[in-house]
Amino acid sequence: MQHSAEFYALEPYLKALRHHRYLSSLIYYDLATACPEQSISSESELMNEQDEEMAKIYSDPDFVSKVNALRNRQELIPEEKRLADSLSYNILLLQKMPLEEYVGAKKAFYKSNEMWRKCKPLNDFQGWLPYWKECIRYARKIDRLMMKEGMETPYDSALDQWEPGERSQWLDEIFRPVKECIKTLLPKVLDRQKSYPELRLTSYDIDHQRRLAYALLSWEGYDMSKGCLRESLHPFSTDIAQFDARITTEYSLSDWRAAAYSEIHEAGHALEFQNKPQEMYDNYLETLNTAAICETHSRLYENIIGKSKSFMPTFKRLCEEHLGKEFQTMSREDFYRIINYVKPIPNRCDSDELTYSLHIIIRYEIERDLINGVIECEDVPVLWNEKYKEYLGVDVPNDAEGCMQDIHWSDNEIGYFPSYLLGNLYGAMIYEKMEEDIQVSRLIEQEKMDEVLSYLKEHDYRYDWMEPNQWIKKVTGKELSSDAFIHYLKKKYGEGI
Ligand SMILES: [Zn+2]
Repeated sequence: MQHSAEFYALEPYLKALRHHRYLSSLIYYDLATACPEQSISSESELMNEQDEEMAKIYSDPDFVSKVNALRNRQELIPEEKRLADSLSYNILLLQKMPLEEYVGAKKAFYKSNEMWRKCKPLNDFQGWLPYWKECIRYARKIDRLMMKEGMETPYDSALDQWEPGERSQWLDEIFRPVKECIKTLLPKVLDRQKSYPELRLTSYDIDHQRRLAYALLSWEGYDMSKGCLRESLHPFSTDIAQFDARITTEYSLSDWRAAAYSEIHEAGHALEFQNKPQEMYDNYLETLNTAAICETHSRLYENIIGKSKSFMPTFKRLCEEHLGKEFQTMSREDFYRIINYVKPIPNRCDSDELTYSLHIIIRYEIERDLINGVIECEDVPVLWNEKYKEYLGVDVPNDAEGCMQDIHWSDNEIGYFPSYLLGNLYGAMIYEKMEEDIQVSRLIEQEKMDEVLSYLKEHDYRYDWMEPNQWIKKVTGKELSSDAFIHYLKKKYGEGI
């Protein structure tokens, strides 16, 4: 691809930004997986330094003028336009907020995250509260400053960071039919399950679960020469360099399925990074896939593929080989029911596929009201517990397993949660298209996961730098709608499992 002179003028800055981002990801991975408690503060400080260096670039007049020169160029190619647009968020923020205050905000986010890590195991919401309030104070300020024309609330601006163009009113519209569909299906499924044998899960030690983890990663096509698996409090994935997409997991002795599906999920994220074409790196587009696009790929593997009837014979065999011989005598039908058992619980990550979207809708409603100033941080625990009772019929035992369970709110990843549900909607659309094009369910049955990955590489990953509305049109030929996901849920859960 022939780039403009303006692009080449910007390139040294793009390289520097990438360098700081990689360092930041590396420190974050260490912080979450290996960093000793006494070193958490000093490592967090190292991360702050990377942010400060990046902030200096975003506020450098020479950088700003070079980005503007690229943006103002006539006949801008789509890749350059998207790149210039993506750089403008931080430039604009640093024009509206003094560098010192911006650095203060970043520090408040890290401090809140650090305190969440310390307070969550102690179930100490009150201990975390002052730090979280400070985090939210800055978050509200940034979201207010970054409101654009057409945005109705500060939360619209929080959403826009993760998903350009996304608005709360639109989410309400698109999520409503999903919510209704699940509310209708849930009691029917729970009623039907009463006739099934009681769900009993054997406890497997971490060594066995780890062996299963590596087998699942290999099945999925995750390349261990370009990645690594460690344990963390909250599973996540990150790209540390072009050939380094790492993941984490969290083993549970009471439910072996939790780690297995978090591994499939995180590897689903990492596969996208391990399989981006070289030209995306040459064009500095490798991180422009939005949160919903990222979650599309992780959730496609985790649920639509990983919990499908087509994958069950393979998964059952892997469990026989790595967990225990008791899987040999289990019928395929019983195994499928164990995997797809529906049970409303307080925990999002361990929840079943059907109720998962309700967990997201609860978070979406709370964070929207929090950023818009309708509620305050101290209101969240009670509100959280009320919504869990109302939507899912469950009692939340404590804050650690309630409103403190997720990392996202601790460091201002507010506006991210809706991406999981959008990922479900996009994923169902893509699967529908894959079924038409390559009969993907048959490939899964035949364990030809390399062909599934090749398809995604060729038809999906290479376009993931585009804005989501353009990307989904390119991949499926259709605009985003909840139809495919609702159709999928009704077919899977409406006819009995
Ligand atoms: Zn994810």
